Amino acid sequence: MVDLKRQYGRFKVEIDKAIQEVLDSTAFINGPSVKAFRDDFARYLRVEHVIPCANGTDALQVALMALDLQPGDEVITTPFSFIASIEVIKLLRLVPVLADVDPYTFNIDPAQIEQLITNKTRAIIPVHLFGQCAHMESITDIARNHGLSVIEDTAQAVGTDYIFQDGSRLKAGTVGNIGTASFFPSKNLGCYGDGGSIMTRDASLDQKIKTIVNHGSRTKYYYDEVGVNSRLDTLQAAILRVKLKHLDSFHKARQEAARIYDTQLGNIPQLSIPARVPYSTHIFHQYTLILEGSDRDQLRDYLKSKEIPVMIYYPLPLHLQTAYKDLGYKSGDFPVTESLSRTVFSIPMHTELESEQIEYICHHIKTFLKQDE
Ligand SMILES: *Cc1c(COP(=O)(O)O)cnc(C)c1O
Repeated sequence: MVDLKRQYGRFKVEIDKAIQEVLDSTAFINGPSVKAFRDDFARYLRVEHVIPCANGTDALQVALMALDLQPGDEVITTPFSFIASIEVIKLLRLVPVLADVDPYTFNIDPAQIEQLITNKTRAIIPVHLFGQCAHMESITDIARNHGLSVIEDTAQAVGTDYIFQDGSRLKAGTVGNIGTASFFPSKNLGCYGDGGSIMTRDASLDQKIKTIVNHGSRTKYYYDEVGVNSRLDTLQAAILRVKLKHLDSFHKARQEAARIYDTQLGNIPQLSIPARVPYSTHIFHQYTLILEGSDRDQLRDYLKSKEIPVMIYYPLPLHLQTAYKDLGYKSGDFPVTESLSRTVFSIPMHTELESEQIEYICHHIKTFLKQDE
């Protein structure tokens, strides 16, 4: 699905030098690269405060901890996402309340949110799935009207632009109260291990989040609140500084691959290519198609037999996962999500895709669908 080895090959000299500098400095924890990356990333996102942390799941957990919620408080999010989105809500003894997604963008449907708001609702977590933003203007309007906080899960959309109705733009993760990012290796801005960050424009949230990720401490060995240990590794920060410089060119390479996929696969009746919306750019963390009137799992097996990787994001919606049975949801509660989990598939998408590889992939998709007619 990704080709990290060839990408590393292209930037080897720069990256090896950055790693060597950290080794020579032996400043492995909170070294200068961490602060430098924090500042570079804040500049890139045009946001006042960035707090680096250990991974994207921690980023979500810390963001929720910073809101001072009480056990039993409700947080609205999507059932069509990676598990982290609801896991952290549950861990903090909060209640995940799920809203179905839009069938074209796969993102949380704002029209479903309002009816779920109760006097216990405190926050909304939209997940900008596959590299495209959820409809943030509707979501922040609802949040403002009901006094709720918005945490944007930007794990799959670091660098995506949200485009307001007046044409102005903000980076994903800087529109709501708090944004979270993951630098897991396969993400668009991936490091060579785990990494994450939290973004906010709010100076008091920044102070609070900085304290929480540092064991709840402002002064060494004095603890003001219960926190966690969540740091971005200095080696990872050094690698991320190099890769951040190339992030926009990474997006362009993915968008170009998506364009070729579109022209090859756009006219096949059984397939829907990824929808584009006027309110967001798309950085194609995944290129995800919908297959109807043909067996998705047979197509996947056929492509695998041709050595084409295919992934299903996500095969079982969050509300039907065993660990979350006690939320009381059942099959049929989120028809759009449930239908997508049976019909979507994602094909290779990364910065090193060559047009011959794309041809090969599309050729075999078409061959299978012709035979299947
Ligand atoms: C990857 C991902 C996360 C978690 O990030 P980690 O760095 O792996 O902890 C959270 N939410 C979404 C939507 C993701 O895709």
